[in-house]
Order: sequence, then structure tokens, then C-alpha cells
Amino acid sequence: MFDKLNSRPADSLLALIKAFQADDRPGKIDLGVGVYRDTMGRTPVMRAVKAAEQFLLETQDSKKYLGPEGDLQFVRLLQPIIFGKSPKFTQRLVGIQTPGGSGALRLGAELIQAANPSAKILLGTPSWPNHAPIFSSARLPVKEYAFVDLMSQQVKFESVVDALSSAREGDVVLLHGCCHNPTGIDFTMEQWRRITELLVTHRLVPFIDLAYQGLGDGLEQDAAPTRMILDVVDEALIAYSCDKNFGLYRERVGALYVMTRNVDDIGKVESNMAALARVNWSMPPDHGAAIVRTILESEEMSAMWRAELEEMCLRVNGNRAALAAASPDLAFISRQRGLFSNLSMSRETAVALRMSHGIYMADSGRMNLAGMQPADADAIVAALRAEGC
Ligand code: PMP
Repeated sequence: MFDKLNSRPADSLLALIKAFQADDRPGKIDLGVGVYRDTMGRTPVMRAVKAAEQFLLETQDSKKYLGPEGDLQFVRLLQPIIFGKSPKFTQRLVGIQTPGGSGALRLGAELIQAANPSAKILLGTPSWPNHAPIFSSARLPVKEYAFVDLMSQQVKFESVVDALSSAREGDVVLLHGCCHNPTGIDFTMEQWRRITELLVTHRLVPFIDLAYQGLGDGLEQDAAPTRMILDVVDEALIAYSCDKNFGLYRERVGALYVMTRNVDDIGKVESNMAALARVNWSMPPDHGAAIVRTILESEEMSAMWRAELEEMCLRVNGNRAALAAASPDLAFISRQRGLFSNLSMSRETAVALRMSHGIYMADSGRMNLAGMQPADADAIVAALRAEGC
């Protein structure tokens, strides 16, 4: 039967990693793969994570099954960080541990499919390339609309308003909670307020993807749009990832939270989420969530984690400021947030930047701001100018 399969294209970012490794030019700069990097270009295990792992190594006395919901103490302890201390919607909120933010998106998609198979997913483009396929493979129709104009680096807010205004009641709106991937362009609070109004007026369901909390303007600020929306809408889904803000990428740590209209719906959602998890991965991997739980259970480790996260956030924003200072044409980069900005360029230009200048970014023009040092700003600007960007 396998001869009937068609080959799929390889992930172009993985090819980029290999090409970067094979490049022996000393000044090469890797703005490709989407992980945090420190001043030495490493993606280190955070000190708080090491401390939690040490603690777990010494104290964990069983690895017996936890169940499809995973580590519910992990799910509970994350709640105040995401939603605030005691939000009025706490009673209408239910969560489950998932394999990363990707698992949360997939589970959320299947839950929507089970609850309202005719719901459309509204997706602003460009977006994280995995968004549309995750929803489509859960048999949900994806309706794309233009979210941003890369030439001007501006949100196409009219297009957002049109898309939401013409959606049908019960349609789902995928929103990046903060640090938009791939553009770094987040809505202003004024725009978030307008979006919230549209969600309420047209009775749409927000599905908020929060994968970079703490890497934009800080934990609290990055959660502000999510909290504002949840305060007023009836129902919502939140796909959360701890893989970036705890540096746990390969441990696959995430959670799906669902806010229901009535407290009575909680049990139904809970049992459906568990059943869907059961047929997908049976139970989520434990180690990463146990690390996060251990950190959040300890005041000392929590403080350590918060300080490290702030350091990471400052470093990325420092790189943004360095690029903006090196060229007025890149001033917009200092107004964007998160790991990424997406320059408007052709694939040929991205290739020329690699071949002629040793500057590696995705073919789409997406660059990872954590991949550079402030001192690289002039070289990056010179290469962009030489290639006519
Ligand atoms: N959403 C967005 C916007 C992302 O960028 C990513 C990861 N690149 C994810 C979700 C998935 O995160 P995870 O690695 O935890 O599955």
C-alpha cells in the first residue's frame, strides 16, 4: 500500500539548520530556526529547569500512569500566570495537559469538530505554518484572511474587521495572544478592544494561541489581551505552550484550557477532552510538565525562572533595538515583539543573503531575533542593503 503515498516536501527550516552547520565562514549568523539563543548562540537549559530536574531526580518515586489529563497540578498552577489571580471566569474554566502547544491546538480543533462540525476557523495570514494543517486535518474548514501587509509592516485591520464581521455565529477565530509568529506584529490594545467587541457582537469563539508568554513585554503584559477577551466572551479555547518560556522545546509541554458558557458544560468538555486525548496520545509525556509544576510549587525556583525569562525577553528586545538603531528602514523591528519579524523579500533574496553574506533566515523572510548579537546589526543591515531589501 505504501507505494500509493506521495512524498511530502521536507521541512525547509531543517534544511536551513544543516546548511548553516556546513557553512565554515566565521561571520555567519543564524536567524533561521525558531528557538531562543543566548549571547553565546546556545539554547541553554534554564537554571530553574536544572534545579527542578535535580529535585525531581531526588524525590520522584514513581512513574506510574497519570491519566489522559496529565498533571493537573501543573494545569492549575499555570492558571494564575495566564489568566490572573482570581478572574471572574475561573468557575467556567477547565484545562488538560497536552504534548506542547501543538497538542493543545490539535485537541482544541478536535473538540470544536465534535461540538460544532460546521464551525469555520478564521485564520489571519501569514501565520505559523502548522496552524492551517492542524485544523484541516481535524476536518475543520479554514478560512484565511490577510492579517498583515509585510511591505508596510502594518496590520490590515480593515481586513480583520471584515473577516470577523462576515463570520457566522459559532465560527472560531484563531488569535495569537502575543508575539505573533512569524511577523512579531501584535494588535494594539485599541485593536484588541475592537476585536473583542466583534467577537461578542457576532457571537464568535476565540481560540487563543499563547506560545510565547513572557517573551514580548513580560508575563503580565503579554497576557493582557487574553484576559480582556475572556472577561467578556461566553466561550473560548486557549492553547498554551511552555516550550519557549521555559526553554523545554523537546519535552513537549503545553495545556489546553476551555472556557464554557455555563458551569454545567464543564463536565462535558472535560470528559470529551480526556476521550480525545486518549485516542490521540493516550497520556501526555510527564517530564516537562513535572518540571514546570516543580518550579511553580517553589517560590525560589519560580523567582529564578521569572528572572531568567525577563533576561531572555530583554535580550531579544535589545537585538530589536540594535537593528532599529542601525537602520531607520528597520525602525519597525523595535516596535514588534517576540522571537520573530518577517521582512518582505523573495525566496531568491533569502538565498542570496545566505550564499553571499552568510546570513541565514527562512525563505519567507522570517528572522529569529534571538539568533543575533547586537554587534551583528551593522553586518545584517549592510547585507540587506546589498541585496536591495
Ligand atoms: N503556536 C505558535 C504560534 C508557535 O510558534 C508554536 C511553536 N513554534 C506552537 C504554537 C507550538 O508550540 P509547541 O512547540 O509547544 O508545540
